[in-house]
Amino acid sequence: MADLKNKNIRQRMKKLPRRTLQLISTAQDTAAALGAGAYLVGGFVRDVILGVGNFDLDIVVEADGILFAQEFARRTSGSIVSHTRFGTASVALEGGLKVDIATARKETYPVPACLPQVSRGTLRDDLARRDFTINAMAASISAGDFGLLVDFFGGAEDLRRGKIRVLHPLSFRDDPTRILRAIRFEKRYGFTIEPLSLRLLKQAVAQGLIQRVGPHRLRDELVLNLKEKRVLEQLKRIRELTGFGFIHPRAAFPPAAQALAVSCQRELSWFKRKFPRHRGVDSWLVYLACLLEELNNDEVRETCRRFALRGGDEKRILSYKKAGGSLIRRLAQKSLRPSEIFGCLEPLSYEAIILLRARTKDARVRKRTEDFFEIYNGMKLYISGDDLRRLGIAPGPYYRKIFSEVLAAKLNGEVRTPQEELALIKKIREAL
Ligand code: ATP
Repeated sequence: MADLKNKNIRQRMKKLPRRTLQLISTAQDTAAALGAGAYLVGGFVRDVILGVGNFDLDIVVEADGILFAQEFARRTSGSIVSHTRFGTASVALEGGLKVDIATARKETYPVPACLPQVSRGTLRDDLARRDFTINAMAASISAGDFGLLVDFFGGAEDLRRGKIRVLHPLSFRDDPTRILRAIRFEKRYGFTIEPLSLRLLKQAVAQGLIQRVGPHRLRDELVLNLKEKRVLEQLKRIRELTGFGFIHPRAAFPPAAQALAVSCQRELSWFKRKFPRHRGVDSWLVYLACLLEELNNDEVRETCRRFALRGGDEKRILSYKKAGGSLIRRLAQKSLRPSEIFGCLEPLSYEAIILLRARTKDARVRKRTEDFFEIYNGMKLYISGDDLRRLGIAPGPYYRKIFSEVLAAKLNGEVRTPQEELALIKKIREAL
């Protein structure tokens, strides 16, 4: 990163996508109309300086943020969700863009690791409540001083030198989720947590402060770490600095689970390369399952509930845990018909199948799971419910049975054409 001329990032902002610049210009007009000071803040400013794409705008207003957001939403035809208690609002725009707008605020932490008390404050207060110097900069969007960098804590210099630095000694104690955040940014940008911050981080870990954070907040931060590109480095660093005891005392992430995570990474990129049109796989869930590898089913269930994972997420992890080794053994058997392979894999999520593939080198299992993704899973029948009704079969539980028998026959290559499907249905009906 080159040095910033006159502490102004106007030139860098000019390189932003057109749509982003339009939104910033609308925010500028909104600020002028309301006579309010408005600033871009946080990760957006950090990434503009780094020249990294970050499309969600984060704006702090030294006035009523909700009023600002309402006017901004009116001008952009966006839909607004406000949180009156915090003086914040989110404006969702066409194309999936989001603009977060907040009243400048001050935070105090009367109890460590618990949510802060919030009151109205200045821009400086708002920047002082942030996690790291690199995330505590603002850039003015007012016409008079557009792009002027507000950097009270040396964020630009830390960005230049690649340092993660907390703003004050109690930062990790106030909010221990910042421990995971420090690791996230360190490994994302290839930075280092500077020595004093690292010492403070280790002290907070030694005092068991992570365990005092509400599980939902921990889950949210951990999932962000697991969504990072260099996820294996994230996991390694978390293991080194905090361990995974905050997930479960037995979530030790030993070498076998680490090797599984490495294989998962290979399988996930294989899947993405080979099936670009398939629905995306939630890679974070795959890595979470690796972290829970040592736990039994009950412990996994209990952990998922404590972290309030959605029911579907819990099911996807458990389906892998339950299927596990026995399914790999079954899929390795010599003679297995396509319908049987389908029967084994169809109840599983894609994430669970990726985990199974990562666990085995058996060529037959690997080929069969690939065939499942490539052929079996997308196979459609020509016949529909209408055809069954036309044949005089009343809607009911038989439909399911008929469809699955015809699909099995199709998977096995026993029927191919619409006529053959119909002929088979008639045969099944007679048998019924
Ligand atoms: P990303 O690029 O991953 O979205 P971000 O910096 O935009 O990173 P967010 O979690 O969206 O991260 O938070 C936006 C900003 O809010 C941060 O840049 C930081 O200034 C502030 N922030 C977020 N979480 C905390 C926290 N736990 N403590 C203090 N400040 C925080």
